[in-house]
Amino acid sequence: MSDNAEPTSKLPRKLRKAEAISPRANDFEFLGDRVKPGQRKVFSLPAGTLYTGASADIPVEIVHGHHAGPTLLVCAAIHGDELNGVEVVRRVLTANWLKNLRGTLIAVPIVNVLGCHNRSRYLPDRRDLNRCFPGSETGSLAARVAYLFRESVLKRVDYAIDLHTGAIDRSNLPQIRVNLKNEKATQMARWFGVPIIVDSPSGDGTFRGTGDELGIPIITYEAGEALRFDEASILAGIRGVRRIMESLGLITERTRRRHVHHVIAQSSAWTRAHRGGFLNTILPLGSRIHQGDHLGYIVGPLDKERDPIIAPFSGIIIGKSNLPVVYEGEALFHIARFDAVEAAEQAVESFQTHLEEQIATQLPNRS
Ligand SMILES: [Zn+2]
Repeated sequence: MSDNAEPTSKLPRKLRKAEAISPRANDFEFLGDRVKPGQRKVFSLPAGTLYTGASADIPVEIVHGHHAGPTLLVCAAIHGDELNGVEVVRRVLTANWLKNLRGTLIAVPIVNVLGCHNRSRYLPDRRDLNRCFPGSETGSLAARVAYLFRESVLKRVDYAIDLHTGAIDRSNLPQIRVNLKNEKATQMARWFGVPIIVDSPSGDGTFRGTGDELGIPIITYEAGEALRFDEASILAGIRGVRRIMESLGLITERTRRRHVHHVIAQSSAWTRAHRGGFLNTILPLGSRIHQGDHLGYIVGPLDKERDPIIAPFSGIIIGKSNLPVVYEGEALFHIARFDAVEAAEQAVESFQTHLEEQIATQLPNRS
């Protein structure tokens, strides 16, 4: 399936022009304060207190356009150790193309501030914030943070992009997870412009699930590994946010954009270790594999023979463990199945090549 679903209008040209001139925006009220049209402001959402008495505030920046338009939330680090999205949000906020906004951007680089302080996915109460929505005012620490974020931020927006990475010691190929039953969210997933979209029903307690309940479409961008910055994942994330902002009309000055093919995965599953030992593999993320392929090997420290890990079905590797030590049952390779696996392979290849070229332009010149 190709990414050609741009928003189009069937209105005649004159009317289309009139439609494009949206009315001047009203003040945006937030936490008892106001952001005037054309202004941006930083807020602190109080999410608890550290032992030392210092407050653990969630940083929020609101960029409010001169003209009325949709409100988009871009948030990261709901899992406190998933950092690529923190950098995506920071760079989006410094981008030139953010000028002349129509509508409002709410940017939250770190939702789970307490987890981030501890370099942990979880809150200090060992709960996963992304299982504690919609939350409660009087519940656990995680439930209170979820409640605060839902009431103060999520309820204020029309759309949301939630930025994640793989868990600790696991990397994800840049991909969008979306509930395909949610049409608006699926449209956002297509606009984002990464080659792989994975159908992922919004489970109980998740941020996306609470979006479904409120009628607010949310997509999840997954890319890279926890506690690491990965430039390709960051660049693809920034580009995706920009493409969504263009498609929603938040950015009116469109640049010529590259066509990105995307393919929707039929399903996906993790291949697990059938024994404990040391994992040897040379397959990178994005590799196309065939059923029966040896994905890698598990060996004991004195083994002379290698024990292959056999691909249970054909597909593309969209996630993998980076840790060579494994116990039986540990998740090693996340494989996505496709009807059109060749198309998926080509889409991934051209996406990766383009990102590599983009990264190469950032390298210092050596003469
Ligand atoms: Zn996550």
